[in-house]
Amino acid sequence: MTLPLTTTDATALLGVYARVGPLFVAGEGSELIAEDGTRYLDFVAGIAVNALGYNSPVIREAMLRALDSGLIHVSNLYRTEPGERLAAELTKSFGGQVFFCNSGAEANEGAFKFARKWSKKTEIVAFNGSFHGRLFASLAATDRPDYRRPFEPLLAGVQILPLGDVEAATRAITAQRTAAVIIEPVQGEGGVRPVPDAFLVFLRQLCTETGTALIFDEVQCGLGRTGTLFASEASGVVPDMSTLAKPLGGGLPMGAILVSDRIAGALAPGDHATTFGGGPFVATVALEVVRTIADPDFLADVRAKGELLGARLRALSARSRRVKEARGRGLMWGLELNEVAAPLVAAARERHLLVLTAGPTMIRVVPPLTVTREDLERGATILEEVLA
Ligand SMILES: *Cc1c(COP(=O)(O)O)cnc(C)c1O
Repeated sequence: MTLPLTTTDATALLGVYARVGPLFVAGEGSELIAEDGTRYLDFVAGIAVNALGYNSPVIREAMLRALDSGLIHVSNLYRTEPGERLAAELTKSFGGQVFFCNSGAEANEGAFKFARKWSKKTEIVAFNGSFHGRLFASLAATDRPDYRRPFEPLLAGVQILPLGDVEAATRAITAQRTAAVIIEPVQGEGGVRPVPDAFLVFLRQLCTETGTALIFDEVQCGLGRTGTLFASEASGVVPDMSTLAKPLGGGLPMGAILVSDRIAGALAPGDHATTFGGGPFVATVALEVVRTIADPDFLADVRAKGELLGARLRALSARSRRVKEARGRGLMWGLELNEVAAPLVAAARERHLLVLTAGPTMIRVVPPLTVTREDLERGATILEEVLA
């Protein structure tokens, strides 16, 4: 028999998270269910991870099938089928090759290494409002001084430039020194900010001219979140590498680096590795996640629901003096407030709606991509009440 949790059990977890709210014991569709049976409408989705919602039959069936094979892990010393099929699926649109890892930060760290090996240069350029992860190189490229400061020195040679500043980028990105430019086509943690297409086009041109690897961090905005399989598709720009993670493994830890043939050609056995990356269990699940999301009808539905959510949030923004702006794309939205967002996130939770912040003054809304129109209406109504 399992004994009830005690306060000592909770304090056995390292205190680097300020966990709040109830103890969740189950999930169904777009709802999380607490210990006392209360249902919470979940517009956090495990931080844009649970794209197919809770208890998804797609994920469930993939997991059961993966278990039936008896293979959870084999290592990258040998070939297995699911990883090869998944890599083929992910390279359908833009070609290239794939490296599988286990998280978003790890994907970006790997992309930096690949950029250095290919370019034979060292420096990295990132932008204001960026979030690329919490490891020593990805954190150096993350525009959160409070996250960085206690752990310095981080990776040297990383510059963070004003987002959209063509002159600053022209000065900083050079043929002599710059190995990589990393950017989220739609910024997530930094405040749900779609980057203007023209700036991505400009970076593509400058990176090509200077022999610099252009990396799109699609860890949060990729895989259908913004209504296209890759967020970059809206701009027409093809990067040299894209990184994926959050929704990829259907809730299991998985990251990926999509690498152009040009950069892949500079890499040889031994250049990079990870024990767990792309194992048969997680890859079986991820393949079904990617196939489901890549379906044109699924993506069209995300776009249509995104219009609906966007219209509700824009209307809310126009009516409320507490809201400065609603911005987003697809099912990735933010309400920029004229006040601190955390108390309103707590107030929404009191009304059984889960949303999260993106920086100090923004409420972020990233529901499962399978969310129903009714649930979107219900969530928007709760947000209106909270901001009334
Ligand atoms: C979450 C996130 C990361 C880091 O991913 P982890 O899996 O937490 O390491 C990197 N980039 C972006 C854009 C993210 O949203």
